[in-house]
Amino acid sequence: QLSHRLTRVAHYVPQNAVVADIGSDHAYLPCYLVLTGVVNKAVAGEVVKGPFESAQKQVQQEQLAEQIDVRLASGLDAIDVEDGITTVTIAGMGGPLICSILEQGKEKLVGIERLILQPNVHAKAIRDWAIVNGWDIVEEEILKENEKIYEIVVLEKTEAVIFWTPQQLLMGPELLKNQTVIFEEKWMRESAQWKKIVASMEATAQTLEIIEKKQELVKKIQLVEEVLQREN
Ligand code: SAM
Repeated sequence: QLSHRLTRVAHYVPQNAVVADIGSDHAYLPCYLVLTGVVNKAVAGEVVKGPFESAQKQVQQEQLAEQIDVRLASGLDAIDVEDGITTVTIAGMGGPLICSILEQGKEKLVGIERLILQPNVHAKAIRDWAIVNGWDIVEEEILKENEKIYEIVVLEKTEAVIFWTPQQLLMGPELLKNQTVIFEEKWMRESAQWKKIVASMEATAQTLEIIEKKQELVKKIQLVEEVLQREN
């Protein structure tokens, strides 16, 4: 049984896409996609030997070796143009790590139509990366599993000039359009956390670094509170 989180990631994979799941661990996501008939061909990339072997084992157990190619490689080194990949999924890592995988493998993104990214933390890094690199945010979702809140950001290549406000970059343009209870919970949690940090910063020596960090947090708290207050 696939986790709720990965089931939601799978939901954004187009029918008949050719998928590369980077950082696939047990290859649960590509196995699910093939077994449910969404895709017929996938690559599971893993950089660490243990998870790579788990992925191989899982694919063999499910008898999916014909459809799923498990590869030991870092990031997008796992794929080549000849694979004809149309959709890349990267899930269960921090936003900055996902961005560094995309950044380091930029030349491999030519021809890719959709990126389905599920950062565990700091989704803003992904939105910042998208805006700089010509990817539009087409769908977003926020979900909760085992008390943890996760975001999914779906990107598609665009030629258009995109502009997102600081609030949209922080909280997600699509998520802001349809604010759920989980969305509110996430931002209440985050701003409470930031307020604690600001308070502790106020109790220490006011170096330039501390002052700047504090200002940055205060700004983020303001952005979040504007949205939460609008709702309540
Ligand atoms: N994607 C799965 C999920 O969402 O449940 C697994 C998430 S697991 C926490 C992160 C996986 O990414 C680990 O197995 C790790 O080895 C792998 N990973 C980290 N950096 C990577 C990289 N640069 N290239 C490929 N895999 C990477």
